[in-house]
Amino acid sequence: MSMMKKYLVFLFIGAAFAACAQSNGSHDRMDFEKYSPPSTLVVAEHKVAKAKFPFIDVHNHQFNMPDMDLGTLVTQMDQLNMKVMVNLSGQSGDRIKKSVTNVKQNFPKRFIVFANVDFKNVGAEGWGEKAAQQLEDDIKNGANGLKIYKSLGFSVNDINGKRVTVDDARLDPVWKKAGELKIPVLIHTADPKPFWDPMDENNERWLELATHPNRKKDDTHPASWETLIEEQHRLFKKHPKTTFIAAHFGWYPNDLAKLGQLLDEMPNVVVEFGAIIAELGRQPRASKQFFTKYQDRILFGKDSWVPEEYATYFRVLETEDEYFPYHKKYHAFWAMYGIGLPDTILKKIYYKNALRIIPGIDKTQFPD
Ligand SMILES: [Zn+2]
Repeated sequence: MSMMKKYLVFLFIGAAFAACAQSNGSHDRMDFEKYSPPSTLVVAEHKVAKAKFPFIDVHNHQFNMPDMDLGTLVTQMDQLNMKVMVNLSGQSGDRIKKSVTNVKQNFPKRFIVFANVDFKNVGAEGWGEKAAQQLEDDIKNGANGLKIYKSLGFSVNDINGKRVTVDDARLDPVWKKAGELKIPVLIHTADPKPFWDPMDENNERWLELATHPNRKKDDTHPASWETLIEEQHRLFKKHPKTTFIAAHFGWYPNDLAKLGQLLDEMPNVVVEFGAIIAELGRQPRASKQFFTKYQDRILFGKDSWVPEEYATYFRVLETEDEYFPYHKKYHAFWAMYGIGLPDTILKKIYYKNALRIIPGIDKTQFPD
């Protein structure tokens, strides 16, 4: 073969390979989001569409409760066996009154409303006392708890434009009032720690940051993760007579030993697992130990209202299934394992702990 012929043969083979690679996508590089092969593992499956016991979701947001049709919501709740939904987005004043009226006129046993604090004007004379009074009024008008959004610590500024820390003394009258009224404060501070870490191949939340760039934080915008978390813990310790529900396992769902230590130090704190079940489902043995030891300190919470996602929560809590998919890749690109909690603990997580901590829930809707 002449050099020219050899060259043409190679060219032909090369072109054939290229054509083959193009027609068959499996040879191509693909992005991380696309790569999601169904598992070939064959094991017993116990999908759980409905919780084994009636439950109370302590972390839900319904922003239109004053006017919404609660009947549709109740139908969806019944399908999940959700007996009571705690709407953390009650706001205050007139909005609370209207939400409570809607609930009382239609489904008085099925909803609990938490109030929110208006952080405008922190630093103005008497702000704390006024906010505490507003909370007292809201509770009188039918709210049963207080929810603090992560904006406290992130974006709430005082009248001088300075960041209001989570443990700012000017807010003390509010926490004190919550203690006096014997209502819990559900508080979300900071976000998952990887949001502060470099956004690279070592970041477990890379996909979430890539798809939600506004979630990226750094140590000065607004403060380091450690700073915010320490502010929250100082707040908890400063008000031992107030019960706090640390949302999202206090952002320590990936370090249960540390979270256990914190719960030991702060008896006025309980936790809920909204949006972090993927952390528990990847460490079923450690989770089971934690749920056993702290069975009186954990509440059921979910956060975003996507009814079909509850099945993952039930399956992680109730079954001993192995290696089943989580529902949102940007939270977890790993599979889940069931913790397999016994009924005595499940009942505490599903409703008994919430009945103890949140006032105003009709207990007759739940088994012993
Ligand atoms: Zn929330």
